[in-house]
Parts: sequence; C-alpha cells; structure tokens
Amino acid sequence: MLMIGLVKDLKLIVGEELRDAYVHGFKSAAEEDKLNVVQKSGVNGTKNRVSDGLIYKGKRLDIDFDQEDEDAIRVLQSGKVQTNSYNELSIVLSTKLNQEINNSIIEGRSIPNTVSEMQKIIKTETYKLTRIARTEITNVTNEGRLASYRKQEKLRKQPFKYTLVVASGSRTCLAHQELQRRIPAKGLLMNDLIELQQSVGSSHGFTLRGNSLLHPNQRTVLMRVP
Ligand SMILES: [Zn+2]
Repeated sequence: MLMIGLVKDLKLIVGEELRDAYVHGFKSAAEEDKLNVVQKSGVNGTKNRVSDGLIYKGKRLDIDFDQEDEDAIRVLQSGKVQTNSYNELSIVLSTKLNQEINNSIIEGRSIPNTVSEMQKIIKTETYKLTRIARTEITNVTNEGRLASYRKQEKLRKQPFKYTLVVASGSRTCLAHQELQRRIPAKGLLMNDLIELQQSVGSSHGFTLRGNSLLHPNQRTVLMRVP
C-alpha cells in the first residue's frame, strides 16, 4: 500500500513537472521573438497555473496559449506520446519491493535488514527514474517550444527553419555528433529536420520520440534559426 502511494506521488510530481516544462518551452520560444503570450482561459474555467507567470507585456504581436496547448499537455502527461519507460520503472520498483518483502518473510529476516535492502532498491530505481524524468522534461520542453513556434509561423505567415542545439561534450554520442555535423547552419524546415533525425537515429539504433532525438543523458534544444 505504501508503494502504491509512492508511485502515485511520483506520477503526480512528474505530471506537474511536464506541464511546467511545456509552458517554459512555449514561453522561451516566444521570448526569442519578443512576442506576448496570452493566456486563453480554460473552457471549463479551471484554475490556470500558467496565468501568473505567462503573460508578458511586450510591444508587439500576441500568440495564444490556449486549449490546444492544454490538450497537448494532457496527452504528454498521459504518456501516450512519450516513452513508457517511466511507467515501467514505477511498476518495476513496486514489484521489486514486494519481492523483497516476500523473501524477507520466507527467510525470516530481521526488519532492519529488510528495510536496508528495500532502501537499496529504492535508491537504484529512483536513480533510473530521475534520469528518465530528466530526458522526458527536455523532450516536453521542446514540444512546448515547437507549439509556440508553430503559432509564430502562422502569425508571421512563413515557415521557419529549425536547428537542434546539441549539448556537446566528451559524452555526446555518435548519433548526436553526426546530427550536429549534418544540420546546415541556416537550419532545416521542420519536416526535413524530423526526416534527418529519423535517418541518423535509426542508423545508430535510436528511435525518434517527439520532435527531437533524445535518449537518457542527452540535452538537446529545438531552436528557430532567425
Ligand atoms: Zn546522443
């Protein structure tokens, strides 16, 4: 029972984080073009957590943060677009802990011993969860950025060119090194960028999730090339 509660809490926390990540992405992409972001009030008049921080007093045009975005966030939170690894890991965690409890009962181990074994499991699995959550959040931030850019494209009546800013270092994988080399300085149309990522990704054994090729420990930011 305790475990069910823990997994539930984790889901709630991650859900909130994903929302913040989307809003942050949306906002930051609008800021690049000094656009106002206007909060359209929810259909059912629910409280809008974003309203406080989101509205800017800029000088120029507006883009709306609207129901479309609320729907996108809901889909992202449902995990249907994103990886299932997070959900799987939550299940793995509770399964492993239950196993530990069962073994402990069967073997007649002491409570301190059982607790310390359980703590080890939690530590290992939480580390994995954190790593995955971080990747998810980067991904969702990019989804928010793209949603914002799409609205800007409509406003400006022209398609944008995009690039991926790859956080590079000694640990940058071959797929991302290749991507960095192959994206032209003037950027690519979104469809072409997706296509390039799919082809580079698959040749390195990755599958594209969302709009930017991501895997644990890789931070990549989707950006417009002005
Ligand atoms: Zn990589």
